[in-house]
Amino acid sequence: MSTYKKVLLALDLSDESDQLREKARSIASANQAELHVIHVIEPLSFAYGGDVPMDLTSIQEQLDEHANQKLNSFCDALDYPVTSKIVATGQTESEIHRIADEEKVDLIIVGSHGRHGIALLLGSTANGVLHGANCDVLAIRVRDEEE
Ligand code: AMP
Repeated sequence: MSTYKKVLLALDLSDESDQLREKARSIASANQAELHVIHVIEPLSFAYGGDVPMDLTSIQEQLDEHANQKLNSFCDALDYPVTSKIVATGQTESEIHRIADEEKVDLIIVGSHGRHGIALLLGSTANGVLHGANCDVLAIRVRDEEE
């Protein structure tokens, strides 16, 4: 019997995403689960408090395009069928929760830096995803490039 039927893998598409690939594949494969992948782009206007005196549409479109390309190459190297590749726009944790609910996934996989000190107090995406998720969340420890 499979423990998980639908898995959602959240990727920030940095080089560290490669560290999630193996484990995500083996979990999905051991459960013969559907695998969905998501990358969230925070709108540029968020960074400027929504008050930017210029049209950011074309820059935003280029960011989307770049994210789609990176997501495709990640999935090509995954060696497991990906049911859906999602590039969403919005606040990262909320979008991951929204898609997880929409797709009725039973496991979300995120990377975690195992932060401590002030960085832990400031929170992390893994923490944000855990709080408010309606399913299991697996935080896979990722190492910083210089570690
Ligand atoms: P962070 O706490 O921001 O270093 O990110 C840790 C993990 O959260 C990453 O390995 C991803 O699994 C997930 N994550 C961070 N940013 C994003 C994003 N923009 N879209 C999807 N997942 C993300």
